[in-house]
Amino acid sequence: MQNLIEKAIHTHQLNKEELLLLLEDETNLDALLAAANQVRKKYVGDEIHLRGLIEFSNFCKNNCLYCGLRRDNKNLTRYRMDEENIISLAAHAKEMGLKTIVLQSGEDLHFNTERMCRIIKGIKALDLALTLSIGEKTREEYAAYKEAGADRYLIRIETTDKKLYADNNPDMSWEERAECIRNLKSLGYELGSGCLVGLPNQTLSSLADDILFFKETDCDMIGIGPFIPHPDTPLKNAKGKELNLSLKVMALTRLLLPDINIPATTAMETLAPDGQAKALNGGANVIMPNVTLTDFRKLYQLYPGKTTTGYTPDDSLKKVIDKIHALGRTVGSGYGQSPHWLKEQK
Ligand code: SAM
Ligand code: SF4
Repeated sequence: MQNLIEKAIHTHQLNKEELLLLLEDETNLDALLAAANQVRKKYVGDEIHLRGLIEFSNFCKNNCLYCGLRRDNKNLTRYRMDEENIISLAAHAKEMGLKTIVLQSGEDLHFNTERMCRIIKGIKALDLALTLSIGEKTREEYAAYKEAGADRYLIRIETTDKKLYADNNPDMSWEERAECIRNLKSLGYELGSGCLVGLPNQTLSSLADDILFFKETDCDMIGIGPFIPHPDTPLKNAKGKELNLSLKVMALTRLLLPDINIPATTAMETLAPDGQAKALNGGANVIMPNVTLTDFRKLYQLYPGKTTTGYTPDDSLKKVIDKIHALGRTVGSGYGQSPHWLKEQK
């Protein structure tokens, strides 16, 4: 097993069978995290880049079985921030020292192309890097956001197992999601994707495919999220909460895609107080402090127990910076583009 890990450290190539062997071995988590940490240090350095996350609407037209924002969840009070508030929150994030904003929401049709482009231009006028995470759109819409100034886009494939995807995402198509990912890349976005880990009936074989999919689609950022069951969804009795397996998938992703950005996800921190620290010591180099206003963030409940609930934007940022310093790492000083994407721009 150590030979395979050495091979990954030096060549960043593993085939499906090799990935599966590493995923099946229950004794190698620490070795994989250490290897991913070594590769992270070599390719992306010790800086941890911060992204201020604004969750601006919890309306969603979709019905993903795992998500608390799904349209059939009638127990959720829905909110959407108005354009001015979104832009002034971004301005506050800038005052706090953040250089990148992530705008995230359910798939909310209220925010049509015209409205989104106004918000994008308002935020870009503040000289911030901007990431969107607002779901599936047409190529023309993605092109319009890019033209308005958006730099990056996050859209997880969630799983490469097409049956699992169909079972969990009613009315949605895996092929269309994959097409969105290809469109975003070809439009020049810094492309973020990722998967959920621990969905019911998910196999290790499909997780190996997920990692190979990230490489094949030439992603610049990958977020790995442990699935956490939400009580108001059809998956409320599912097990989920696979922190160690999520860390393993994350570490393998770092080994195969050495120069991308990888966040230590909030879902990891929700499962263990040291979840993000383990991720940052196992290949991750990004954290997304939540800068959503306190009253709204408790309503953006993808899953229960989100650690950022109840804090103000300033509290959240301070906690994150303290954590980075406690790990002996530094806060990123620039916009924090992934070296992988920067290389492609030359
Ligand atoms: N609506 C957009 C989309 O789906 O791409 C962006 C927002 S969506 C809430 C962001 C991510 O939340 C999804 O890609 C999904 O992986 C994650 N998510 C949803 N429900 C979750 C759960 N129960 N546990 C962990 N992550 C979850
Ligand atoms: Fe909507 Fe995204 Fe949640 Fe699916 S994961 S229900 S698209 S917010």
